[in-house]
Amino acid sequence: MLLSTERKWIMEPLKLFNNAMLLKNAIEAIDVFIQGHTAEVCPHCRNVCCINRHSYYDYADLIYIQALGLEPPAYKEDVRDTDCCQFLSATGCTIERSLRPFRCNWYFCGALLKSMEDGAAKPYRKFIKEFQKIIELKKTLMDTFRTQIETAKGDKKERRKFRRSFTPG
Ligand code: SF4
Ligand code: SF4
Repeated sequence: MLLSTERKWIMEPLKLFNNAMLLKNAIEAIDVFIQGHTAEVCPHCRNVCCINRHSYYDYADLIYIQALGLEPPAYKEDVRDTDCCQFLSATGCTIERSLRPFRCNWYFCGALLKSMEDGAAKPYRKFIKEFQKIIELKKTLMDTFRTQIETAKGDKKERRKFRRSFTPG
């Protein structure tokens, strides 16, 4: 029978992964709605917001990406922050929406917002609801991560003891 701390060490990383998957699914759920509006609005844009500076993951993004077992994309080194984003193609962003930096997914310029607000009311209401759910899920992920860091600090001694029990001789 495993000790409760041992069971916890097994379950904790799974908890983080599950939280990250819930968040990923929630972001995927709003993809069609956002894509429908960006496809209408962005091709006419004269001041495209996708610059290289926005393509970097912040701390919370990195926790999310690594909790999913993924790595950030390879970045080119010879590009300026203000250059057009290295992940922007003729058909839009080449990173799938659920894996983009959060700031990319949560930036809605005036024209995009207007398109959403002027569209059908029901899908817009659904989007707002999903959006709030995403904010909550992101908070849960970060809270889980912080709790795990604190727990890991407290478990240090027990982990040493646990490791020693596997050392031959
Ligand atoms: S989101 Fe707004 S600012 Fe960015 S490319 Fe589309 S229309 Fe332009
Ligand atoms: S949405 Fe994609 S193309 Fe635009 S800034 Fe973010 S990573 Fe770059």
